[in-house]
Amino acid sequence: MKINRLEGYFETFKPANLLTMNMKDRIILHVDMDAFFASVEQKERPWLKGKPVIVGGDPRKRHGVVSAASYPARKYGVEAGMPLPLARKLCPHATFVILRDIEKYSYVSSQLVKIFYHFTPAVEPFSIDEAFLDITGCQRLFGTPHQLAQKLKNEIRNELELSCSVGIASNKLLAKLASSLNKPNGLTIISKDQIKNTLYPLKVGKLWGIGEKTCNVLSKFGIRTVGDLASFPVEVLKDQFGKVGEYLHLIANGVDDSPVLVKSPLEKSMGHEHTLPKDTNDPDEISSVLLSLSSMVARRLRRKGLQGRTITLKLRYSDFVTLTRSETIPKPTDSEHKIYRLAKGLASGLKAQSACLDLGIRKVRLLGVSVSNLVRDRFSSQIPLPFPEFYDQKRDVYLAMDKIKDRFGEDSIAWAISLIFW
Ligand SMILES: [Mg+2]
Repeated sequence: MKINRLEGYFETFKPANLLTMNMKDRIILHVDMDAFFASVEQKERPWLKGKPVIVGGDPRKRHGVVSAASYPARKYGVEAGMPLPLARKLCPHATFVILRDIEKYSYVSSQLVKIFYHFTPAVEPFSIDEAFLDITGCQRLFGTPHQLAQKLKNEIRNELELSCSVGIASNKLLAKLASSLNKPNGLTIISKDQIKNTLYPLKVGKLWGIGEKTCNVLSKFGIRTVGDLASFPVEVLKDQFGKVGEYLHLIANGVDDSPVLVKSPLEKSMGHEHTLPKDTNDPDEISSVLLSLSSMVARRLRRKGLQGRTITLKLRYSDFVTLTRSETIPKPTDSEHKIYRLAKGLASGLKAQSACLDLGIRKVRLLGVSVSNLVRDRFSSQIPLPFPEFYDQKRDVYLAMDKIKDRFGEDSIAWAISLIFW
């Protein structure tokens, strides 16, 4: 009898620890900012508040698309992803803002993430204006999930003057769906007993991961709503779509075990150094080594999806005197040529300095290049790039070289000039 009671105790006792917590017991919160780019513009220019604002490419050019439309603009049928000339036709009196300064939005996004961390360490920034928070076990600190969400919304409003919509459910799939149901300024909870009632009447396209193409294929099977998909025989789905069929069946039933992916804290800096085979003061040799080092650092940054603003040169002379010099640039970079040019500039500065001090032409024994002040690379995140001009043309070359190195090894390709002395 005693043993049975204990067994019962252990069955119901679930420690509030994310690692041991049963996936079914999770409480996941999804935050989605309302008309993010447009709202940031309105915050900067208060006279635009409550008015139709469309942020996107240059409306005079044919290929631009809408990145965000304020809610008054949406009343005219304007929506994100729409070609700008069409948006202009639908809502000619809107204020069109050209999306140029992506850094401005990234900064607001980083402020948002800071607020999320006030509530839980389990934060997965999902795009520039969306994030998943695992708030399992946060009740003692912040009250019910509803109360926590309200506090979070208030903090975002008070600190950043921005509005967001929040969804809460037992997994990411349902939380993301919930946040989309009552936009703008929504707070929607899908509890376990509401899953069927909420999910089944929705069109299948509302489910995360089901795009237009899949919708078209599913409609051929008479599947239009999530309920149609949920009740469709899973074996037939598997026959038709393989593994995807199984996935479709699961999501239609609101099942999703994917964890909130907590990103590891950013590394502080990244660098490489090289002791020269023979001490030298040949400027060409020093340049060549600096380019090789810069390439290695830049490649590591790109691999980790990082960019940095501070470039540091380390230089050790043959008498073991070691000097470091740094320069900070306004925009973060992962371009080897930018890093190289700065490192080379710093080396020239040191050379001029030693000439002033009449130290003679000192030979160099070791060179190092590092990059710090790191931020996540905006290209590796899910931010859509509205214009090609955001793109460093050389970046395609860097990425192609990265691919070649991934496949054939680090020595398979290099800049010609860096090969001379390496
Ligand atoms: Mg949004």
